[in-house]
Amino acid sequence: MTDPAIPDTPASAHAAPPSSPFAVAAWEQDLIDTATELALGFAETAAYYDDKAEIAVGNLEALHDAGLDEAALPADVGGRGLSYQAYGEIVRTIAQGDPSTATIWTMHTGAGISLAQTTRGTLGSFYADEFLAGKRFSNALSEPTSGNRFLNPQQAALPVEGGWALDGAKRFVSGSEIADYLFVNALVDDAPTFFGVPTADPTLSIIPIWDTLGLRATRSQLLAFNNTVLRADQRARTPEFADFAAIPAGLPMISLGVADAALAAIVKHAQSRVIMGAPLSHQQWLQFEVADVQSRLEAARAFIKQTFWQADNGVPTFFTNLSRSKYLANKIAVEVAQLGGRVGGASGFLKSSPIQRHLRDAQAGQLMAYSTEVLAGEIGKDVFGIVPVQTPAPTEGK
Ligand SMILES: Cc1cc2nc3c(=O)[nH]c(=O)nc-3n(C[C@H](O)[C@H](O)[C@H](O)COP(=O)(O)OP(=O)(O)OC[C@H]3O[C@@H](n4cnc5c(N)ncnc54)[C@H](O)[C@@H]3O)c2cc1C
Repeated sequence: MTDPAIPDTPASAHAAPPSSPFAVAAWEQDLIDTATELALGFAETAAYYDDKAEIAVGNLEALHDAGLDEAALPADVGGRGLSYQAYGEIVRTIAQGDPSTATIWTMHTGAGISLAQTTRGTLGSFYADEFLAGKRFSNALSEPTSGNRFLNPQQAALPVEGGWALDGAKRFVSGSEIADYLFVNALVDDAPTFFGVPTADPTLSIIPIWDTLGLRATRSQLLAFNNTVLRADQRARTPEFADFAAIPAGLPMISLGVADAALAAIVKHAQSRVIMGAPLSHQQWLQFEVADVQSRLEAARAFIKQTFWQADNGVPTFFTNLSRSKYLANKIAVEVAQLGGRVGGASGFLKSSPIQRHLRDAQAGQLMAYSTEVLAGEIGKDVFGIVPVQTPAPTEGK
């Protein structure tokens, strides 16, 4: 494999701000087309970056240069305010080309937007300006002991001059090696509390654990916080329902993109692989199997589109439906990719085949929080109307 070239930036969508609903739709379609064009280039180099477990920095720069970061930043913090529907479609199309790039971009937009929105009242436009200037952001939320419950940190930060010191670790921080800022949480006075942390802090270090099966080019490393001061002036408010939920919206679309790429690989392989004089696609078992996964993929896509429409229109059920969206997308991506594994036979098992990569990447989608097991628990409780049991505080009931 040769070292891939930095992709060219296509005609950018830095146009005048749209004013009418028709202009907004045209502007968003322009951005989706731009992402689609870029993603075709990302697909050419995805195998290279996966093999090397290397971040495709050029891809991320191309997305920024094409105006996609600016477009994703909500209008209330100085961006262009993409709708959920357009944001999701952009993540999906990037993921179809290179899901590691889509994962880092989702985490980057999620952390950057969260910091811009949650510190606006205290730091003004600081984080929005940094985001627009091309600085990079990562989420350092997951902890060794919090498991999937990344919004429930178990590590306490203790009071020191100027803030609170965190001595511990955050793990699986996608894109952290190229990040300028981290979105971090820790317990302060027993309550989950959020901060912005510049990565230039010398008390931060990377423990290089990242050599994985799937989404290898995300380089989601383990970070050590060696009494790192979470500064009081970098404290953020708690994220709110009305904030743009880039990560919950992006995660299902990463899996849909993987599913689309896996299905395309099945079709290509089955049409070109000739067994005993007939293409594999002419075998009835495969026609039945592909009809099943393709129909369920379209059903998941339709449900997710409806969820994003609800999000764009302030329908309150959108948040629980985002959980269902991730659950459905994660599972169908694995099922399509597993069918690919069967269809590909031994040739699909070769490292040179994209089929094995789709299988590995689909599995990674299920692990990212919230995992399909955690989501199944939440959805099941919702179906049964079970209210979560609150663990009593130590002083309660005395
Ligand atoms: C590719 C990739 C990128 C990631 N990027 C980031 C990132 O940028 N920032 C970040 O903060 N984190 C990131 N993560 C971490 C991720 O979001 C999870 O928080 C983390 O993977 C959870 O830890 P674990 O995988 O060891 O699983 P565990 O949480 O130890 O899970 C093990 C098993 O237990 C189940 N389980 C766990 N908790 C519960 C529960 N409460 N109820 C029921 N079942 C449960 C799980 O479903 C799983 O089956 C990333 C992970 C991956 C794989």
